[in-house]
Order: sequence, then structure tokens, then C-alpha cells
Amino acid sequence: MGVPTLIGVPFDAYSSYLRGAGDAPARIREALRCDASNSWTETGVDLSVAGVYGDAGDLAFAEEDAFAAIEAGVGGLLDQGKRPVSLGGDHSITYPIVKAVARRHPEVTIFHFDAHPDLYEEFQGNRLSHACPVARIMESGLAKRLVQIGIRTINRHQQEQAQRFGVEVVEMRELPAYEKLKAVGPLYITFDMDVLDPAFAPGVSHREPGGMSVREAIAHVHAIEGEIVGADLVEYNPVEDVAGVTATVAAKILKEILGKMIAG
Ligand code: MN
Ligand code: MN
Repeated sequence: MGVPTLIGVPFDAYSSYLRGAGDAPARIREALRCDASNSWTETGVDLSVAGVYGDAGDLAFAEEDAFAAIEAGVGGLLDQGKRPVSLGGDHSITYPIVKAVARRHPEVTIFHFDAHPDLYEEFQGNRLSHACPVARIMESGLAKRLVQIGIRTINRHQQEQAQRFGVEVVEMRELPAYEKLKAVGPLYITFDMDVLDPAFAPGVSHREPGGMSVREAIAHVHAIEGEIVGADLVEYNPVEDVAGVTATVAAKILKEILGKMIAG
């Protein structure tokens, strides 16, 4: 399979409550390369080996052209035989990313880590809000299967949406759920940092207590089985961070996702 390749998506215009996630890609890269830790993943992959992963830099776009630029940028990497690993940005970016992925990998399964189901039909009048990407993905028929892990904010509307679209919701209180994370065929991972408890990851726009420890998140990432064709890590908000701790956690999660992509 292709080389996992980072691509920064500095976009937070569709974040409903706070801005700031657009500054995340640079902070996550800094933390990933920080000398405070070494380059090995827990699964035994040395990310300092030349060529094991790449970095395509950040996408540049005007706000009104963002989704077209994201779809084209991610699609371009896929067409070069690479596996995009997008660094958000707010979670709205996952819709244009998955559009690009699904066009090239039909029947993709999506594993979605999040405190929130992101299934709103619209939010504050915006159908492209970061509260809506899963609704857009499912109504467009882009995923064969979509499994949500770590949910703890589902309301009646989103319960109805999950049923309507056949989304498999695994709530936080049901974890662990390692057996749910086995995919047949192409697999895409979208990781919203607020799936973590705000005690571990305060640097997010919507702090939702009662979430995963870093260890629980890594255990679920390690449990994933399937052919990972791409991933994203979204909703890190540096403005809300405390002493950069969430950047370090984001980089740790990113390392383990890269390790899974490289070593299977
Ligand atoms: Mn989300
Ligand atoms: Mn969320």
C-alpha cells in the first residue's frame, strides 16, 4: 500500500462554537518531531526511517473554496498512490476528504472516534457544520459501514439520524469495543480529539467530560484491523490548550495511527 502522507488542512470556519483548530497542523507537526520523545511507535515502527511516511505540507485555499480544495488536495495524494493523513482543522473537513476517498475506494468502512455523533441534519443553519459531516457522508452513500466509538452526547435527533443511516454507534459507557474495529475492505479512520477526556486533552473546542484516557484510545487504535487507506486527526484547538499537552497527545495518537498504517 501507498506511503502514508501528512497533509495539513488549516480550516476552522465551520466550527460552531470556537475558532482556533485551523492553527493545529503546525502545532501537531512540532509535537510529532519534538525531541522530548523518540520516533518509535509502541507497535515497533521507527518513524525516523526515511520514506516510511511523507508530508505534503498544508493546503492553501480561500475560505469559500475550502471544500473543493480539500477534496482535490486529498484526491491528488490518492492519485499519486499515497495514503492521506489529514491534520485538521475542524471536523467539517472529513466530508470533502471522504468524498475523495470514496471515489477511489468504494465500499469504504469508516471508524469514527468522537464524543459527538456529528449527525445533525443542519446546525445553526449550516449543513456543512462540523456537527454534520457524518450526516452528509451517509446521505451521499459514501460509506459501506460507519462505526462510531466513544459517543457521549447523543440526543433524540441524532439517535433518529443514526437509525435512518444505519450508523453503528458505540457509546463511551459501552467500551471497550475492540471487536467492532475489524473491517473488511478499505478502511478510513477519523479521529476527533474530543473523544478523549478533557483531563487528557483540554485543547479542544467542545470539552466533554467522561471520555477516553489516552491509553484507552491507543488500545482501540491498536485493535483496528483492516486495510487503512487514509485517516484524519481533527478538532485539536491550540487556543484552548494548556501548556501544549494536547498537542503532545495529538502527536502520540498520530504516531500510533501511522504505525498501524505502516506495519498493519
Ligand atoms: Mn467531531
Ligand atoms: Mn467531537
